[in-house]
Amino acid sequence: MEKLARKQVQQLTPYLSARRIGGTGDIWLNANESPYSNEYSPALNELNRYPECQPEELITAYASYAGVSADQVIATRGADEGIELLIRAYCEPGEDAILYCPPTYGMYAISAETIGVERKTVPLTDDWQLDLAAIRQSLDSVKVIFVCSPNNPTGNLVDQQDIKTLLEMTQNKAIVVIDEAYIDFSPESSVSELIRSYPNLAILRTLSKAFALAGLRCGFTLANQEIIGVLMKVIAPYPIPKPVAEIASEALSEAGRARTKRQVLDLNANKAYLQAGLSILDGVTVFDGWGNFLLVKFPAGDAVFKAAWNEGIILRNSPVEDCIRISVGSREECERTLSFLRSYLES
Ligand code: PMP
Repeated sequence: MEKLARKQVQQLTPYLSARRIGGTGDIWLNANESPYSNEYSPALNELNRYPECQPEELITAYASYAGVSADQVIATRGADEGIELLIRAYCEPGEDAILYCPPTYGMYAISAETIGVERKTVPLTDDWQLDLAAIRQSLDSVKVIFVCSPNNPTGNLVDQQDIKTLLEMTQNKAIVVIDEAYIDFSPESSVSELIRSYPNLAILRTLSKAFALAGLRCGFTLANQEIIGVLMKVIAPYPIPKPVAEIASEALSEAGRARTKRQVLDLNANKAYLQAGLSILDGVTVFDGWGNFLLVKFPAGDAVFKAAWNEGIILRNSPVEDCIRISVGSREECERTLSFLRSYLES
């Protein structure tokens, strides 16, 4: 049956998510998940009826959280679905291209490949910023540009002035998508207020990270009304199950937001603890990170990754040479990871 699949799909290597890679252990710091498992009790009535396509209470709650108006928000099955919708809505398969700047999140490439859309890459500079001159040279047939800030896996923020320059460079030609999946850990660095000034800006958000709801599959795309209208044409008729809308709305209530804020403060403190502890180890470089993870360079990254894996400490190897991405877990998980790495490197 595989031969019946589209050629592009036959050749596709699926995204190796942390879940697919597997592993056995009791410390999971490989998927940038939250260590907090918050409890919800959604009403499970009226499941005989289809849900609203865009549940009003949820949209209003997220718009208020993000400081935009309700018609500038679309809810999706995770930010991953937002990536796919943007490519499907704006790129003609076989004609148009997306552009992204590695090292960065892998799903931009996979979604484009699945849809049959060309992928252009312009690597980030040595300090992991946009290479605007090279991007300018590569814009032919590019309809969607993905920029991740804080960037996964490097953790850094992309310069806001560069984002504005990129938006101006591409006005009327391409959509610039700023992936802010990790922005809740550094909320002051969001570019959401630029939506008012730039009609070609779209912003990806998710409840999977700071809101500790990776299992819920709920994300959002923020943009002006015109882009949202286009995405509404291609989204599935009922993308948000009723229990998802219920739980997400509760997470975005005043009490839910206050809890998220406390948890973000704790995780940022754990991140500082991990960073301080790792950076004093011989030969180790810890890059500043604005999300809920740190990129760490070791003298021999692969060996460290395997040793931790064998010890039941599951981290994420990265495309950056000798670097491992470590999600910020509970204080105890950070302590045990740090203590393992310290003894491994000193032995
Ligand atoms: N963007 C980035 C940069 C991510 O790291 C992730 C999660 N791995 C996503 C988007 C997708 O998030 P979601 O769980 O909302 O689909």
